[in-house]
This record gives sequence, C-alpha cells and structure tokens, in this order.
Amino acid sequence: MKRKDFTRRKFIATVSAGSVAAAVSSSIPTFGNITTANNNTGKLAILGGTPVASEKVWPKWPYVDERVVDEIVKTTRSGIWCRIQSPDGTVPTFEKEFANLMGSKLSVCTGSGTQALNTCVEALGIGPGDEVITSPYTDPGTISSILTSRVLPVMADLDPESYQLDPDDVEKRITENTRAIMPVQMGGQSCNMERIMTIAKKHNLRVIEDAAQAHLAEYQGKKVGTIGDLGCFSFQVSKTIACGEGGAIIGNDEELMDKCFTVQNHGTNHQGRTTTIGPKYRMNEFEAAILLGQLPGVKERFALRNKNAAYLTSRLKDFPGLVPQKLYEGTVSGSFYLYMMSYHKEYFNNAPRGKFLKALEAEGINLSTYLSNGLHKEPWTEHILTLKVYQKMYSPARLKRYRDELSYPNCDKVCDEMAMIWASGPLLGTKKDMDDIINAVMKVYDNRDKLNSI
Ligand SMILES: *Cc1c(COP(=O)(O)O)cnc(C)c1O
Repeated sequence: MKRKDFTRRKFIATVSAGSVAAAVSSSIPTFGNITTANNNTGKLAILGGTPVASEKVWPKWPYVDERVVDEIVKTTRSGIWCRIQSPDGTVPTFEKEFANLMGSKLSVCTGSGTQALNTCVEALGIGPGDEVITSPYTDPGTISSILTSRVLPVMADLDPESYQLDPDDVEKRITENTRAIMPVQMGGQSCNMERIMTIAKKHNLRVIEDAAQAHLAEYQGKKVGTIGDLGCFSFQVSKTIACGEGGAIIGNDEELMDKCFTVQNHGTNHQGRTTTIGPKYRMNEFEAAILLGQLPGVKERFALRNKNAAYLTSRLKDFPGLVPQKLYEGTVSGSFYLYMMSYHKEYFNNAPRGKFLKALEAEGINLSTYLSNGLHKEPWTEHILTLKVYQKMYSPARLKRYRDELSYPNCDKVCDEMAMIWASGPLLGTKKDMDDIINAVMKVYDNRDKLNSI
C-alpha cells in the first residue's frame, strides 16, 4: 500500500480492528514493510518494561582515527600553522582536494560555515539596502551571514513535507531590492533546486547555496553546492566532515572565487594588495590537518549513511505516524547529516510529541526536536527593526511590511512535528541499530493507548 493510498479513515479502520488485542498479544497491525519484531511488544520501558535498546552505543562522532591524529602531529611539528606560510600547507592542499571531491573548479576555506556564507554575500557586492531570501528553518548562522553585512534577511515559508524552502513563497517575497536567494539544503538533502534556479534566472538573482549540512549530496547529476553561483559548507564538529569549526566555499567562476579569497583575507588579494573591505576569516592549518586526515574514508561513510537512510525509509514506508522527509525528484543521494521525520500525533492516540519522545527515550532511542521555533520567532527581527542602519537603508513602509509578513505557518508546523535522528554519528550504525530505532517506534505505537498517562 502506498502512503498516499493510506487515508486516515482506512488507517483507523485497520488499527481499531486489532487494537484491543494489540495491547496483550502479538496480533499487532502491520503496515506494509513494518513488521513486528520479537522485542517490540510488551510493556513500555517507561512503565517498567524492558527497553528495546538498553545502553545503546551509537558510532562515535566526530570521526577520529590514527590518520587524523598523525596529520595534527605533523602540522604541529612543521611550524606551518597559518595558511600564508606555505602554498603547500594543509589549507591550500585541502582546498584542492575538497574542490576535486565536490566536482567544482575552486574552493576557499574559512573559519566556519557562517563565515563562508558571509564571504559570499560580501564577494557578490550585496550590502545595506539589499535583501536576501532564505529559510527560517535553519542554523542561526544562515541569518547571521546576511545580517553581518547589514542586509535584510527575508524569510520564505517551507514545503511542510520536505522542510525546504517553498519556491512559490520565495517568488512571492521578491522585491526590487532582492539580490540573492540563499536556499538551505536542510538535513543535507537538496531543495527543489530546479525551481529555485528557474526563479533566480527569471528575476536575475544570485544563488548562494547553504550546503552547510549537505557534503557530497547529489541532485540531478550535480553535487549539491555546485548548482548555484556559490556553495557553502560547514566543518563544525557535528557535520559529516568535521574539524571543530571550519567552512568552505566552492565555485567555478574564477573571478568570483578570487573575490571570495580576497574578502576572507581581510581584503587582501592573492597578489598581496589590500583592495577591498573584508574580515579575517582564514582557516588555520590545524583545522585543515584534521580535514585532510578525515577525507580518506569520507565516501564510504557517506554511502553507509545513504544505505541506512534508505533502509529506515523502507521500513517506515507505509506507516503514517512518523513520516520521513520528502525528497525531491532528482535527488540521487543526501548527506543524511540529519534523518528528519514528522510525528503525526493523530496516529498515536493524540499523545503530544513530548510524551512520544519520552517513551522512546526510555526504550533507548533519542530523537531530537531540533529547533523549538523558526528563526522568525527569535528576538533579532525586532532588534534590527530598531537599528539605525536598517532604518536608514530601508524605507519605513518596507520595514512595516517586513514585520507584517513574519508569518510562517508551515515552518511552525514543522517545528511542532519534527522528530529527527541527530546527527552524523547514528546513521553510521549497523542494520541492527536501524532496526532498534524502528522497533522502538513500533513498540510505542503499539502502546499508544498508554502514552497520554505517562
Ligand atoms: C551548521 C550550519 C551553518 C553554520 O555553519 P557553522 O560552521 O556552524 O558556522 C549554516 N547553515 C546550516 C544549515 C548549518 O547546518
């Protein structure tokens, strides 16, 4: 049975037939691929039963092996600690390797993903008075990279099934001052980039991909991050390639990438002339040493995350209570930095998400809610509206409209329903680990009549 055929009425009819027996025996309704494993019946752990996965140990993250340690030691001993000391240092070397890995001509590293994004904003000459459209459902670094240049971050609402920017809403929010779209590749899977690129072309806008979560993901035959004008990545400790704090820009336009280098190098170009306004965002050699040490197994880890994600999705296929992130047509692979799902309480006896997560946690499975609210609900929006630079650069009518349009019902819904496997570590687990996740969910589902009382 396909999920779209699985109407709520049909679902309720199916489950009510077996629901009394389900509490006491093994005659539990099955949903397509979802079958009851031996250990997912019985009393909830939170009520004193045996947990599905007690003392679960997930694969450790960040990834460390002897190669990583060796690279750090080598850099320490070399005395080359800053990228300007040598063209063969770890940063320039990693830039070449990362560009190769991503199938782009060039790469410039920075001290974080946020810095990479802000470097792009600056390099594209986007500044006060301009607007950039992005998502309210993202890391605060996305918004920060726009605000740092005193640009107006205009947020568009989401497709509630993919958690990605809704291209129609993006188009509605374009004004005469819009200069760029900054699509966020949420979870590490691609937005509807085909539509976003079409809209950008039509309105003559630049596209800066926030691919901070999307290392190696592929869409329509291209690596995510190589579709727009520039693509940005994060190597913050939780990400699927990690060095603590770090970031990179990739791109094919040599002139533009040169500008990115100059901006992040306090305005000083490759020839040593200080030509423009720029912060100092250089990555240091220790960070790149860790990245170089981590690159060798990166494709294998990426493949394993995709395999595990596909397996989870196959097991949840016909279960409407916990619905995995919708992937757009053209998605070849994702980074699966996050494995995102929506919790639909109507299938869990209307138990609030908090109770579902609490019961699941007692079974040994922790799911994360990620953001408690979209970034449009954080105090920065009011803050910028009272700042002199914003009041000078944007008309009172524009700022009034900005405040009036801070409404994102789909994002609010996503925040309320989100239950995700966070982050780079768990999806490197075994098939048994993945089964434990699903079995715990099914056990809680089987006991849904008790959820409201926990
Ligand atoms: C992590 C992240 C960022 C910021 O990257 P940092 O390296 O933490 O500065 C930006 N956008 C998204 C979507 C992220 O996940």
